[in-house]
Amino acid sequence: ATMPPLLSAIANAGRHGVLVKSAVVMERLAQVDIVALDKTGTLTEGTPRVTDVRPLPGSGLEREPDEDGLLALAAAAEHPSEHPLARALLEAARERGLTLSAAEDFTSMPGVGVTAVVDGRVVVVGAPERLLGGAGVPTDSATRLLIEEVEASGRTAVLVVADNVPVGVLGLADRLRPGAADTVAALTELTGTAPVLLTGDNPRAAARLAAEVGIEDVRAGLLPQQKLDTVREWEAAGRRVMVVGDGVNDAPALAASHTGVAMGRAGSDLALETADAVIVRDELATVPAVIALSRRAGRLVA
Ligand code: ADP
Ligand code: MG
Repeated sequence: ATMPPLLSAIANAGRHGVLVKSAVVMERLAQVDIVALDKTGTLTEGTPRVTDVRPLPGSGLEREPDEDGLLALAAAAEHPSEHPLARALLEAARERGLTLSAAEDFTSMPGVGVTAVVDGRVVVVGAPERLLGGAGVPTDSATRLLIEEVEASGRTAVLVVADNVPVGVLGLADRLRPGAADTVAALTELTGTAPVLLTGDNPRAAARLAAEVGIEDVRAGLLPQQKLDTVREWEAAGRRVMVVGDGVNDAPALAASHTGVAMGRAGSDLALETADAVIVRDELATVPAVIALSRRAGRLVA
């Protein structure tokens, strides 16, 4: 017996490395007219490296951390986290042969960072813009300057706070996935609209990366809820949005989109469960490929 076109398209997508979860999804893929790409772990490989370890002097703490102390404190707090930045901090601590204290009362705040009690101190590690000011951590110019210095080069700055005092800044850099620029170009041609970058990272790092891949529309500093709101707005305006993401922070947007696509290898469990399709081998080029495939299948069905 011959397979119905949609099912054979699903099998075909599988051979291309995309797990399409249903025939309905296969049909929806053909209708996508705008693609929103996440940055960390989607356009980038999601294996950032620590580039800067910068303790802040004058924190007034009894045990003011040096470089190794700062990294050890942050890595200990991040130990239970599955975020790519957390894994990078743990890897850097391992390379330096640092011994990590246990983390207690760990909480993850998607799109913001983590908090845990380490050596009796409440440690927060996360996005500087989110932790400073509003949350009650005092802002001083030395901290601000250090953050700007790290972010100016397009890196991601992460602030480390101990007992409500900023104790240092860590810089992280990630590599673009191979073929990212080609994928952006292919998606523009297929959908008639240039893809948009949705990221929780800082505007400087986002703009630098967007320029490298040819994306002009950049929405940075977004919380998970704001990624969701952006997708909802487009959907309400009649667009059919594909969201491509990997993180817990992308899950609400993946769920609300016309078709949600998760990066399989780097992806968090929540993203994989929420998505309609999974890029199994983490090759970005399969995103435009599966849209093209679904359109061919659609023509066969019609
Ligand atoms: P993206 O949208 O680029 O995938 P996220 O929404 O996961 O990024 O994170 C946005 C920002 O929040 C990061 O750039 C970082 O500053 C901060 N952040 C999120 N999770 C963590 C974490 N586990 N440790 C440190 N910082 C974090
Ligand atoms: Mg991500």
